[in-house]
Amino acid sequence: MEILKNKKSLEDYVERQKEMGKRIGFAPTMGALHKGHLSLYEAARKENDLVVSSIFVNPTQFTNALDLEKYPRNIQKDIDFLQNSGWIDAVYIPEVADLYPEKTASKSYQFNGLEKEMEGAARPGHFDGVGTVVETLFRQVKPDNAYFGEKDFQQLAIIRNLAAQLKLPVKIHGVGIYREENGLAMSSRNERLSPAERAASKLIYETLQKANGWFRVVSIPEIKKRVSEIFSEEPVMILEYFKIADEETLKETDFFYKDRNYRAFIVVNVNDVRLIDNLHLD
Ligand code: AMP
Repeated sequence: MEILKNKKSLEDYVERQKEMGKRIGFAPTMGALHKGHLSLYEAARKENDLVVSSIFVNPTQFTNALDLEKYPRNIQKDIDFLQNSGWIDAVYIPEVADLYPEKTASKSYQFNGLEKEMEGAARPGHFDGVGTVVETLFRQVKPDNAYFGEKDFQQLAIIRNLAAQLKLPVKIHGVGIYREENGLAMSSRNERLSPAERAASKLIYETLQKANGWFRVVSIPEIKKRVSEIFSEEPVMILEYFKIADEETLKETDFFYKDRNYRAFIVVNVNDVRLIDNLHLD
């Protein structure tokens, strides 16, 4: 596995590979790697000659300074993890100046309103930060295919919109959520949970599954009421939001139409750790 520590070494690598006609699959990450990230590489492996990943904790997408500061970082552990996995060919580990040569600030985007819903409303400026870093990474890595987790479903929708509006020559692929044994969506932030909190957090996926069972049986306001009752009985788990939204527009809805697809989205704070999850409703 090649370890590319700056823009120059990445660009040399990409140029060599492109000259040989290799198709590049790319999965960007913020490190603290786990099996959820491996599922992106596994998908990329099947459809490309090479798999490239990146590790960069992007400052412009954090709206909370403490969250940025507390974000787990252990580059050597990540490199060892990648090397042992054997899934990838190269990892790009840029410095801030490689991605933000002038100032560390976001561009401003419009993603057809997608950026205003859910995480966009809860974390103003977050998707401008994501868009800026992903656009820059795409321009540097020049992937044929790029892989993003459905765990961040809104982010995936926004990246699809970004690639389309900028006419970037990359195909965007969504990868299903990889879960811990108890159903908790795997996340770098889970490292900050105590064993008891981690065990209690299984309630999130259990509740999503219950909501799926209630969907099209009881009304959406009734589902929301039941979900908030479940969390009101668990004082360590603070429900930030639970929404049912159209999968395409991401607009929250209280009614459903037969020919549209819907998804439940949830954010729960457990002792200051913000846990996010979602489930397609069928
Ligand atoms: P992160 O390092 O958290 O920014 O995530 C990097 C990529 O991995 C994003 O596309 C995430 O959606 C994806 N990802 C993170 N956790 C999971 C998971 N449990 N299952 C599938 N994809 C994931």
